Amino acid sequence: MLSEFALIAQYFTRPARHTERVVLGVGDDCALLAPAPGTQLAISSDMLVEGRHFFPDANPEQLGHKCLAVNLSDLAAMGAKPLAFTLALALPEARAEWLQAFSAGMLRLADEHGCELVGGDTTKGPLNICITVFGETLPDRALRRDAAVAGDDVWISGALGDARLALAGYRGELSLDAASLDAAAARMHAPTPRVALGLALRGIAHAAIDISDGLIGDIGHILKRSGVGATLNVDALPVGPMLRRQPIEVRRHFALAGGDDYELCFTAPASSRQAVLAAASSAGTPVTLAGRIEAEPGLRLTDAGGNPLDLKLSSFDHFTSS
Ligand code: ADP
Ligand code: MG
Repeated sequence: MLSEFALIAQYFTRPARHTERVVLGVGDDCALLAPAPGTQLAISSDMLVEGRHFFPDANPEQLGHKCLAVNLSDLAAMGAKPLAFTLALALPEARAEWLQAFSAGMLRLADEHGCELVGGDTTKGPLNICITVFGETLPDRALRRDAAVAGDDVWISGALGDARLALAGYRGELSLDAASLDAAAARMHAPTPRVALGLALRGIAHAAIDISDGLIGDIGHILKRSGVGATLNVDALPVGPMLRRQPIEVRRHFALAGGDDYELCFTAPASSRQAVLAAASSAGTPVTLAGRIEAEPGLRLTDAGGNPLDLKLSSFDHFTSS
């Protein structure tokens, strides 16, 4: 059986890669970071709990990817550049095979984003993974939730509803062919944080949020913080090829209230449409215009023809949803 310190040394300690910003990494009482002069630190934590956020038999490599991906998604939604992260891990047992796969999945994504693991905590207990990410933003350029303005366009990155589609497949709520289930499951287990898009939107977008609990609730946070309302064209929401084949009610429901999407919802002035599209193309992430911010509070949903839709949907809430 591996000791706590052998485990940390073997799976979570590597030579520093970004010595210009990581002055001291794993091994001391604290890590030391040196953000570039004149920048602000963006900090966010996300915890993943077995039985709550993932199945007990989850593939450890995908799990390693996902728990960092959901944290990088928060940096993306702020327009922050990833610098470093810490990992607090409770594990029922130190299994070398599991740790190897978990750290490989996590560190591969970390390397793709130049985000260095600089510390953490390791303890025995029910499987629980908490990551804190540190990113860099420029003063007055963070994409805050309180910055939407009446008249802004509402944009969505990528495609919505795939993770919910995979869940429906697993639960047998829908019958999906094996290829569709695999494709949807890949989106659920290995989401792509939209970091490049968030960075490209700095100075162009007003407000942004990453969609983790379902668009309908997450856009509500922007509306509330900004003191505005919005109309969304539900049938304009981007969905992938698997979901597009489903009946319209399923498509609407999963796109609006699916959850686990990790796409960005952002607002930008209508005069910046070309700039938004250019930013999206430079980031290699498609974006779709799906609504408008309005002065009147509340969220209004319409179909493709602009007719009001009365859909009884809500986002996921850990204490009120089952
Ligand atoms: P302390 O007792 O001072 O909290 P620990 O003994 O818990 O320190 O950890 C020793 C070192 O290993 C610290 O630098 C800590 O940040 C790092 N560390 C602990 N767990 C992890 C982990 N899961 N991933 C990365 N670094 C870790
Ligand atoms: Mg400790």
